[in-house]
Amino acid sequence: MVLVFLFVLGLAVGSFLNVCIDRLPKNKKITGRSQCDFCKKKLKPIDLIPVFSFFQLGGKCKYCRKKLSFYYPFVEIVTAVVFVVLWVYLPQSEIQKVFYLGLFATLIGIFFADLKYQIIPDELQITLFIFAFFLIADRGGGVKQLAEHLFSGAIVMLPMYLLHILTKGKGMGFGDVKLSFIIGFLLGITGGFIALYLGFAVGAVIGVGLLMSKKRKWKSKIAFGPFIVIGFISVLLSGQRLIELVREIYRF
Ligand SMILES: [Zn+2]
Repeated sequence: MVLVFLFVLGLAVGSFLNVCIDRLPKNKKITGRSQCDFCKKKLKPIDLIPVFSFFQLGGKCKYCRKKLSFYYPFVEIVTAVVFVVLWVYLPQSEIQKVFYLGLFATLIGIFFADLKYQIIPDELQITLFIFAFFLIADRGGGVKQLAEHLFSGAIVMLPMYLLHILTKGKGMGFGDVKLSFIIGFLLGITGGFIALYLGFAVGAVIGVGLLMSKKRKWKSKIAFGPFIVIGFISVLLSGQRLIELVREIYRF
């Protein structure tokens, strides 16, 4: 029963994430009814049921019949599945699991906002930081531990900040710099750098793949945020095991 509830909750949160993903990068308010991307007609509640409305209408707008982005049901389903899987497999306490759900929902928002618009909205960064803060505070280390984590965040952020300055913001957006601070804050220095390293590695493989398939040209921009999110999630879920594996490979 709790899993059914989590799945439905995930669909609803995913639906809200779609609103955040499409509006925050354009500095629009997230309150107010959604409208069609094309004809701008305000949608009725019956048109806004997650996943169901999309498929019931054949993926098209009810009013202008233009094809709607497949991102909408996709983000909803991904969020729902992530909620259920995390709840089943995470070994943490229930309160910790709730923080993890919030953290992952925010990461899904960051992933798709950056993928679609090459922007990581500050609102999502702040939300992510708050959930990371809760997770660390729940461990009960007090102010000293918190200070250590803030320091880790600053250290992990530093090379990203230098890259941002050296490339004059073209190679590395400032959103990526801020995100790397939160990653270091939650994962610590070693875990944070390994997350970034995995992000660079996955990004390089996919970037070369896109170039070879001629889907992207050398000069075209590829959002880096989604790759950092992948690295972040990998280290977060595998914990110490992945860190030890990378340590063994590189012998440090
Ligand atoms: Zn329409």
